[in-house]
Amino acid sequence: MAELTPMMKQYFEIKNKNRDFILFYRLGDFYEMFFDDAKTASRELELTLTGRDCGQEERAPMCGVPFHSAEGYIAKLVRKGFKVAICEQVEDPKTAKGLVRREIVRRVTPGTVVDASMLDEQRNNFLGCVYAAQGQVGVCFADITTGEVYATGSSDWNDIASELGRFAPREVLIGGEAAVNDALQHFLTDRLEALVEPMPEDAFDMQGAAARIEARFGVTDLVAAGLDDLPLTTACLGGLLSYLEQTQQSSLANLNHLQVYLQGQYMELDLIARRNLELCETMRTKEKKGTLLWVLDRTKTAMGARLMRQWIEKPLHNPLHINRRQQAVGALCDDVVARSALADALKKVFDMERLIGRVVYGTANCRDLRALHAAICCLPEVRAQASLFGAQQLRELTGQIDLLEDVRALIELAIVEEPPITLREGGLIQRGYHNEIDHLRDLASGGKGEIAAIEQQEREKTGISKLKISYNRVFGYYIEVSKSNADLVPEHYIRKQTLANCERYITEELKKLESTVLGAQERLTTLEYEVFVAIRDRVAAEVHRVQRTAQALAGLDVLCALAQVASDYHYVCPTVDFSGRIDIRDGRHPVVERILKDNLFIPNDTVLDNGENRVSIITGPNMAGKSTYMRQVALITIMAQIGSFVPAASAHIGVADRVFTRVGASDDLASGQSTFMVEMSEVAEILKNATKSSLLILDEIGRGTSTYDGMSIARAVIEYVADPKKVGARALFATHYHELTVLEDMVSGVKNYNIAVKKRGDDITFLRKIVRGGADDSFGIEVAKLAGIPAAVIKRAKSVLADLEANTPRVELRVVEDEDVPQITMNDLSGGAVADRLRAMQIDTMTPIEALNALFELKKLI
Ligand code: ATP
Repeated sequence: MAELTPMMKQYFEIKNKNRDFILFYRLGDFYEMFFDDAKTASRELELTLTGRDCGQEERAPMCGVPFHSAEGYIAKLVRKGFKVAICEQVEDPKTAKGLVRREIVRRVTPGTVVDASMLDEQRNNFLGCVYAAQGQVGVCFADITTGEVYATGSSDWNDIASELGRFAPREVLIGGEAAVNDALQHFLTDRLEALVEPMPEDAFDMQGAAARIEARFGVTDLVAAGLDDLPLTTACLGGLLSYLEQTQQSSLANLNHLQVYLQGQYMELDLIARRNLELCETMRTKEKKGTLLWVLDRTKTAMGARLMRQWIEKPLHNPLHINRRQQAVGALCDDVVARSALADALKKVFDMERLIGRVVYGTANCRDLRALHAAICCLPEVRAQASLFGAQQLRELTGQIDLLEDVRALIELAIVEEPPITLREGGLIQRGYHNEIDHLRDLASGGKGEIAAIEQQEREKTGISKLKISYNRVFGYYIEVSKSNADLVPEHYIRKQTLANCERYITEELKKLESTVLGAQERLTTLEYEVFVAIRDRVAAEVHRVQRTAQALAGLDVLCALAQVASDYHYVCPTVDFSGRIDIRDGRHPVVERILKDNLFIPNDTVLDNGENRVSIITGPNMAGKSTYMRQVALITIMAQIGSFVPAASAHIGVADRVFTRVGASDDLASGQSTFMVEMSEVAEILKNATKSSLLILDEIGRGTSTYDGMSIARAVIEYVADPKKVGARALFATHYHELTVLEDMVSGVKNYNIAVKKRGDDITFLRKIVRGGADDSFGIEVAKLAGIPAAVIKRAKSVLADLEANTPRVELRVVEDEDVPQITMNDLSGGAVADRLRAMQIDTMTPIEALNALFELKKLI
């Protein structure tokens, strides 16, 4: 077999260490991809597949992209879930002896992108990690663009799924039992559309993890990091840090802010609740418009926008913490003038958090430094405006703003005001900052002046008025004379090139000057770049101060936005406590009221508590507004726990540990589940996990099966939820089974409500008002008529209904004793004939038919 070419050998050496990356291999002005990478890239990026001689009989499949437009292609691949490794020439091809040395300078994966072009400025980009062993699970998340790291743990996979849903990581590392958990992987790839990376066990080694955590977060031990009782979380964090060390060349100096939190610190919201309540994206179109985030997000900065999303995804649980936010929002609401001055000051601040990230990773250019400078210049104004408020949280945030005078002065003195995008062509450093740069610049530009003088002098000497001196890369400086003047050219001109209309010459004098000018120019651009990098490193050293300031700005921005929304839409400050009581007067749905505009939304009251008003059964016609009403209660509760004011005339919110929803029917065909199966599994999860302080939104449970089955399930669920010995949660239960309204008299804590309509003849008017008592009609046919079902079908439906009503006895629910079937215990089986027979069975050697017969026998025995 023929030998590979030296370049291909080098390629394979690098590729073999980066097998699961698409390798962008720098060749001159292109990044080339070879073999399978080339095939993948040509397919995904619609590039032409060519071939290159590689020393073998067959040419290597190849495709490439120009280096200056590579970012767009990398972004596209990463968005599609691929990982890309960038291999650069790390020595100057002009001076290299033999093959140019190449090295990986950057690895880009979905969870570790840092380029602005690949990021959504309004949201975090998290890399996640899940590690499980012996029934315990650790989970953590890092956003390397902002430096945030979050970690927690649980023994319940549902909690882990909630956390994963909340952070929505783009890429998730898995290890230990998590790496063999198919359900988890299915959830990550199908639900979250994340790239999943199994990691080797040694990445999670405890000792290595502790050392990494201590070094990165500057803590003396795990106790100081808040990880002393969380071995799985520690191992998991260690795995994540080891992956970052392997894939990222830079020091990740901004990744220094670890937050370890415990389950219960925040309100829990699983993926289903978040989706059903449309907190940050709508169910159907996945857009922001039409969500709670859309209503609340009046932030002025990208940092604030990201934090607002986090607050909505993670409502608080402790009323004390909620009160602090409320006081800040209240203070901002009260002083409209000062608030709008603060908002105006914030509006001018660029994304300092991600800018400092790029500075630390060494990808920031001069424009980024100037943008950081511009942001820093806004700080005095922001601090001055924010310090006008007395609320404690606002005072703390204001105190956290560092004016960063030194960083501002450094950039101002060193970097020109309008720098070019590229860093390799000079023009970066201010005059007066660096003596040698000034000197070289004078030399280069002085030389250029002399060249202009020579041009004038040669025109006069030769009498050729159109003689001109130009420059190109091949000849350097040359004199150009048109053909018609060629006979006037003096002898000492050396001809270099003949073109159609002109001749090009050089002279001794010109060449001498050229070497001074070009020498100075070349040294100048190199030196400017070096000085720039040194300045960038000095700014990078201040990363902690910049981050802290950025976080303070984000906090102020979110609080200001909440105050703005509260004032504009007439929200009130809810009383929040642990009382368990939800008492909302004239509550409104925050999103629907915005869509309806013109005050068309009809407000409604709600009373729920842990006593007589645990479960509200809500009946009423289709289209009456049942779903809107129930979601409104959930959203108001969530808003209150975020610290926001709420759309109501008054509100008292006894905090909820979790909000559960079971809303609408959806098939989960991907996981092979029918509509009814999905519905029942969701109900099962709720019944297993809900507590007394949870809030349940249950919309039409039991609709996916036959009437009797459905009604029986619905009744049993209500009884179970209402029973303080079983769940005792606060619940809103919408149903079309009017028969269930009798439960008010049978089950303690259950109350009936309905949404009123006015009926005149065949027509109904929706009043949208919730009133006590049950409804006795669904008006399904009337609503079908409104929807435009053909008159003939409506007429026929009515006659079928009349017939059914005349001939079907009305179902009446009676008090049915709860025949609790005692569970069979293992003790019962430990003696007697059944146990003997079971013990004697050789299950390993049984055929299926023998097993069936044995089962039959056992059944006969009991
Ligand atoms: P179905 O039983 O058919 O699911 P529903 O009773 O759940 O219906 P919703 O979907 O909640 O009804 O509401 C139907 C429409 O009524 C909403 O899209 C909304 O535009 C309007 N609506 C609901 N509540 C109100 C209200 N309080 N004020 C004004 N309009 C409302």
